[in-house]
Amino acid sequence: MTDYRNEPPVNFADEAAKAAMQAALAKVKNQLGQTYPLVIGGKRIQTEQTSPSLNPANHSQVVGHVSQATRQHIDEAFAAAEATFKTWRYTDPEVRAGYLFKAAAEIRRRKLELAAWQVYEVGKNWAEADGDIAEAIDFLEFYGRQMLRMAQPEPLVPFPGEVNYEVYAPLGVGVIIPPWNFPLAILTGMTTSAIVAGNTVLLKPSPNSSVVGYKFIELMEQIGLPAGVINFVPGAPEEIGDYMTGHPETAFVSFTGSKNVGVHIAEHAAKKVDDQHGIKRVVAEMGGKDGIIVDNEANVDAAALAIVQSAFGFQGQKCSAGSRAIIHEDVYDEVVSKVVEATKALTVGTPESNAAVGPVIEKKQFDKILSYVEIGKREAKLVLGGTADESTGYYIHPTIFIDADPKSRIMQEEIFGPVLSICKVRSFEEAVDVFNDTEYGLTGSVFTLNREHLAYAAQRIDCGNLYFNRKCTGSLVGVHPFGGFKMSGTDAKAGGKDYLRHFVVSKIISERM
Ligand code: NAP
Repeated sequence: MTDYRNEPPVNFADEAAKAAMQAALAKVKNQLGQTYPLVIGGKRIQTEQTSPSLNPANHSQVVGHVSQATRQHIDEAFAAAEATFKTWRYTDPEVRAGYLFKAAAEIRRRKLELAAWQVYEVGKNWAEADGDIAEAIDFLEFYGRQMLRMAQPEPLVPFPGEVNYEVYAPLGVGVIIPPWNFPLAILTGMTTSAIVAGNTVLLKPSPNSSVVGYKFIELMEQIGLPAGVINFVPGAPEEIGDYMTGHPETAFVSFTGSKNVGVHIAEHAAKKVDDQHGIKRVVAEMGGKDGIIVDNEANVDAAALAIVQSAFGFQGQKCSAGSRAIIHEDVYDEVVSKVVEATKALTVGTPESNAAVGPVIEKKQFDKILSYVEIGKREAKLVLGGTADESTGYYIHPTIFIDADPKSRIMQEEIFGPVLSICKVRSFEEAVDVFNDTEYGLTGSVFTLNREHLAYAAQRIDCGNLYFNRKCTGSLVGVHPFGGFKMSGTDAKAGGKDYLRHFVVSKIISERM
């Protein structure tokens, strides 16, 4: 992987980049409202029933009408994926990796256009959308190289008179269920890691980001990926969700989303059904209640900035969002006041105009976040925000609660919106205990200049991605392999050196000479 480097961000302060992004937005705006089909075995299928994907910043604007798969379509998709698997699994791994490199090149060429689709479909501002596109490119480059490495037989411990080695074979047909919040990056990473390893898949995108999902399908067709390797089946979970994960042809499920859905899928896929080929593997990457600890020996300015960025970046709609701050009493008032001041400076406005804070994704989530704001008013002290406006889009002002009890619901439950809860602790050890006292274990940050405290935190904090003296969002592929444990998931470590191992079986070949 030595020749792999992360895709650099676009600098929108540059006038030329800004003008190019505005042109991309104008171009995409002209294409809103089209209808998108299912794609099964390369065939486009327009269904009678469609589901609208709406612009969260302007809910009267339809980004696209998306066809909805029925169970019969799912059966057809399994048949196409099964048939394609017979050849795809034996396609030279270099050829398979080549598709990923070509897709990365194509996304790079169409970067701003693909970013513009995200601005309209999920309400990301420019930098957040560009970050997602860069991560998609990184996944493609990284997993392509990982496959090339994995394709080399691994020699085992030498044994006289025998040649022994280990090779990897794909699992079969997989079901890919990504979330909407990194609409291209996570969808691309989950799908292409599975296919580069020789599997074929059914991809069910989130209804909130199905148009971006379709753009990915179009792009994979354009770079020449054979039909049937990826089958695109958006649809309602009550119609096709359990049907897909419980299907006898399903060899594995790769899921990223909320804890409740992930746990349900893990349970459902574990039940054996007639004619099942093998035990289904489930990779389930789920939610978080991530936090930032600020010690009394810390750079408080850096800590306050990191708290604001982690809590309110993309309106707090990241699994890694720092929705809790745990602050030592000696610096509590100072940090709280800096956090509140910095948050007040955030502009709330449309993603199209590149405002720092935009809308939340949909009505259901808007209502859920506001119900937590009401809970927070009973549980803690509201010092900022708490107001909302859904007249045009789903806007909630960045909201801060202080003096929260570590056991309170706003300190324990994933809200997935622009709501920060802050609590005070008397010692660093207490801060670590408070941090660990949730069911989640995804990301966390510690701000301290005390090396003993850093060592203590490294040993005792239970989370998959722990950062020191920096924000808890913004993991980079290959640099910070990503994934949590406890109820945050199966710790698959997306963007990690062994990620593809989740989608293969190992075969040991032993020849007596
Ligand atoms: P979600 O509500 O769990 O949905 C994820 C996907 O699962 C959607 O496509 C959803 O479709 C589908 N689904 C729902 N029920 C299903 C069923 N019974 N069978 C099959 N599929 C089903 O999550 P989300 O709102 O899209 O995403 C936000 C969540 O993802 C947050 O909890 C966040 O922390 C987590 N997340 C985790 C990571 C990570 O790496 N750990 C990364 C990003 C996000 P419908 O929308 O139609 O229900």
